[in-house]
Amino acid sequence: MTEQLLKVEGLKKYFPIKSGIFGKVNNYVKAVDDISFSVKEGETLGIVGESGCGKSTTGRMLMRLLEPTEGKVTFDGQELTSLSSNDMRKARRDIQMVFQDPYASLNPRHTIEKILMEPLNVHNIGDPKERKQKVHEFLEIVGLSSYHAKRYPHQFSGGQRQRIGIARALMTNPKLIIADEPVSALDVSIQAQVLNLMQDLQKELKLTYIFIAHDLGVVRHISDRVGVMYLGNMAEMANTEDLYEKPLHPYTQALLTAVPVPDPAFEREEVVIKGDVPSPANPPSGCRFHTRCPFKMDICETTIPILAEVEKDHYVACHLYEESRPQ
Ligand code: SF4
Repeated sequence: MTEQLLKVEGLKKYFPIKSGIFGKVNNYVKAVDDISFSVKEGETLGIVGESGCGKSTTGRMLMRLLEPTEGKVTFDGQELTSLSSNDMRKARRDIQMVFQDPYASLNPRHTIEKILMEPLNVHNIGDPKERKQKVHEFLEIVGLSSYHAKRYPHQFSGGQRQRIGIARALMTNPKLIIADEPVSALDVSIQAQVLNLMQDLQKELKLTYIFIAHDLGVVRHISDRVGVMYLGNMAEMANTEDLYEKPLHPYTQALLTAVPVPDPAFEREEVVIKGDVPSPANPPSGCRFHTRCPFKMDICETTIPILAEVEKDHYVACHLYEESRPQ
């Protein structure tokens, strides 16, 4: 049986909005508001949603690069949210992050060797000779060469820089990689190469991924399961095939309506949403999607729908499925 590697329970992040010369807090941006999910060892969980839905904030909270306002994150049996900052630093050896813009996250004044050695120095892994060897080994693993070690980030293309970003994340032999929009800054032709590399590395190194992106096609390509976020909430979560073939939440249906389908014989019912995403500082009452939902009912304005399993391994937060839920 596959083990659960990560469990997230009731995770929230509220950013205070301050005003006046005394900086009095008069409201909060509810960037992530009570989400729960788990990730099994060896799988890829995709998290998808429009910009501002809270997906990147979630990724950063899992590593405690942002402190959660509330909630619990348990990784490999250890509750991360209660660790001291020193113990959390040690735990980060097993959880690493790949960022969207590899150029911004690589120090332009350091050689690739220095950049890749840094995580080994921080976690005190190996002696200087072993560290150097590991840098060369991982450059090869991500499809670069040993001679690249002496070069600087500006001497590489976008795709190569993302390979360096991936190598840096792998240096400590982590179990979980959180990839936040890792291919969105790249040309489409390069995106596929980086996605394939990530898939090969996953098999070879037995990695678990959380893959955060706004592009539904990219997420489908790489994920075993997908969670759809809307305005700080998890709207739907299911196995990739179920979610893309039979989306249940009106928001997921609308997102997928906008994605071209390669098979002309396949017809999907169009769900069109109006308007913009409301402000997370003042989210709608009840279901947060009710201001844009074509299927809105009275209950949607007053009662928050709970994310519940309505079909096997298919979870949705929507009052339309009230009767399908287990009581
Ligand atoms: Fe639409 Fe109501 Fe379902 Fe929200 S709960 S998605 S408003 S039908």
